[in-house]
Amino acid sequence: MASRLRPLAPALRIVPRATARLCIQRPAIEARRSLSLKSFFTSRKKEDQFTSQFEPVLEQANLFHPLSKSPLAPVRAKAEWITAHGTCPTCKEQEPEAKSKPPTYECPDCGYPTHCCEEHYKMGKEEHKHVCGTLREVNEDEHDLRSGRRMREFEFPGAQHRDEAVNLSNWDTFLYTRGFLSMNSERSMRHVSHVLTYPLTIASVLHQSSPYQLGKDLTVEGLKSLAALRHTLHPAMIPGITQSQDLRSTATHTVRIFCLGARAESHLPPHIYMQLAYLFPTTAFQLHFIGPDAIPPHTKSKEPHQHIHYEQMTFVYDNSRYETYHAEAGPFNPYYDVFFLFSPGLAHPSTKDMWKPTIPKLLDTKCAIFGTGFDEQDVMNDVAEIESSGYELDWLMKPRENVFRSLKHEVNMTDVRQSAQCNWGIWGIRGRRYDVNPSDQN
Ligand SMILES: [Zn+2]
Ligand SMILES: [Zn+2]
Repeated sequence: MASRLRPLAPALRIVPRATARLCIQRPAIEARRSLSLKSFFTSRKKEDQFTSQFEPVLEQANLFHPLSKSPLAPVRAKAEWITAHGTCPTCKEQEPEAKSKPPTYECPDCGYPTHCCEEHYKMGKEEHKHVCGTLREVNEDEHDLRSGRRMREFEFPGAQHRDEAVNLSNWDTFLYTRGFLSMNSERSMRHVSHVLTYPLTIASVLHQSSPYQLGKDLTVEGLKSLAALRHTLHPAMIPGITQSQDLRSTATHTVRIFCLGARAESHLPPHIYMQLAYLFPTTAFQLHFIGPDAIPPHTKSKEPHQHIHYEQMTFVYDNSRYETYHAEAGPFNPYYDVFFLFSPGLAHPSTKDMWKPTIPKLLDTKCAIFGTGFDEQDVMNDVAEIESSGYELDWLMKPRENVFRSLKHEVNMTDVRQSAQCNWGIWGIRGRRYDVNPSDQN
């Protein structure tokens, strides 16, 4: 038990990332804790209370503001942060060795502080054009999230009927076939995809209506692993069970999803993950969030191990080092257990060594392991790291763009020319099985 009291477990000490990675991650978490999303992070009753108490502070026609002149204090604070930590790219280009000046000039089209002065802005405008549209979109989205309007797109549907067919081909078909309301603008889609990317990335891999197909995305080994999990996830109907609450006690098996190095994904409130559970109406789930940043939403508790029960799901948050957790959570079974590593940074200099004792343990279980990355380079770095490590493994899913990535761009606050998308890409592996000669397994 003593090990659980060590809050920063070396094996999964994901916090000290290089600046770029950290700065891309941070706004996402803060945005989720922001005012207008408060409703969405508390219960539905509170949401109604909240929306009826407050008048919108910003009209839809008034969402664009230069960051430093925004009517919203958090946006102004962001401008200050970028000015304090960013650099002018034109200065850098002219004198790479010299200390470049801070970006104090805000582009009139996107409102972001981009250059040190108007002159340098004009000189760098051609390059800036490539990102200006995205920054403008992020600017307006951010003001919309905090506008105080009733955000109907976050009024999610409840359980589905058992004969209801869900189409997981893409965000559009999923949202439409599950009956999400008010999903009539790209902005709404970006807001919703940003919070649902975690549960839907998991669901879209595991579900029998997965968009990932044999040959195109999945290997034969991938299909075998997913077939084992789907055997548990889509059982024959159990007569007499109608309430999902019953499942925790009556389901024959519980599927365990382990999220290692969990950060933002652990801060999402349980009802968001119900959108995963609703796609598997006869399955009970345990979601294990493991890592120093695995903290339940709405808690001030510093307990290193916490549980939440919510309908058919049990949420476990644990700060112990993964080796300890692994020993306690075992044995593992490929029919019931699966691992997800969201943007793990396997190749990142600050986290690479911390994953080294963990990956062989995961491979030993012969359970499926899926990972994501926030852009193509991040994914390919992780993939190259896996391939060069000499592990005995099979690829289950070739690295590819994640159908259920967040559609929202997150700007790197130290260099606004860069942005990323949460869970942009996805891949899958598993410890190699030697089916032909079973004695090899020993
Ligand atoms: Zn400059
Ligand atoms: Zn611009």
